[in-house]
Amino acid sequence: METFTSNKIICPQCAGENDIPTDEKFLECVFCGSAIYIDKKKVVSHYVINSNFKKEEAEGNLRRWMAGNFQVKDLDKLAQISQVNFYYFPMWYFKTDKASGEMIYLQPATSTSISEIKKINIPAGNLKVFNKKDFNQSEFIDPDVLFDSAQNWLKDTGVNIDSVETSNLVHIPFYQFYYNYGGKQYTAIVEASSGKVYANMWPAKSEAPFRIMFALCIIAFLFISILAFVLGAMDKDFYMTVEFVKIFGYGLASIPLILIAYYIAKKV
Ligand SMILES: [Zn+2]
Repeated sequence: METFTSNKIICPQCAGENDIPTDEKFLECVFCGSAIYIDKKKVVSHYVINSNFKKEEAEGNLRRWMAGNFQVKDLDKLAQISQVNFYYFPMWYFKTDKASGEMIYLQPATSTSISEIKKINIPAGNLKVFNKKDFNQSEFIDPDVLFDSAQNWLKDTGVNIDSVETSNLVHIPFYQFYYNYGGKQYTAIVEASSGKVYANMWPAKSEAPFRIMFALCIIAFLFISILAFVLGAMDKDFYMTVEFVKIFGYGLASIPLILIAYYIAKKV
């Protein structure tokens, strides 16, 4: 159904026979109007996800993400956005059959520095048949990872290829932001249908103060334990004293430690 027969390609939607275009990889079925993508080995339906976010709204989402708990303090205020690119990014979309739980697997169809985008979640209802008239073709990135490679990746992740019911090419709208912080450049992607932010690297909270904090805790509690033991050894009612010093000492020590931890979390 989806393979080449002589010089015709069969539409994956209506089974109509289309002529193979000479140099185009993107094609519109002459019978049903479906968008078709032609790989060397495979003919698949071509879908696109609509963008729901304007540039300013996407930037708002990025700033909110920057203000999050894993990012360095005030990143949302201090990061300087140097560039924003909008584009439709190609991904191979595989859906397994009902018996296998109708799982969806995505694999970038071109190289990207942000591997996090594999985690993108696309509700099936959001797939729209690609139509040249509705989109600016120059915003579409052509796939260069072939269907075969994507399928091999799927096999490597342990998916039974026979259970794959649907294979599509899907273009997903992205705003890619480049920003500077502390003399370094970073990038993050806002997926423009859901507004979710994806990034592999960002200016993270420094771990050093938390490590020092951890060491401080160990030292404090070790000291109290030793103190309890020594005091207990001097007392004839040994066990009572040890337990009392421990409970009281731990309680007392935890107050400044909690305050320091709170201060670090606020500051870093
Ligand atoms: Zn068709």
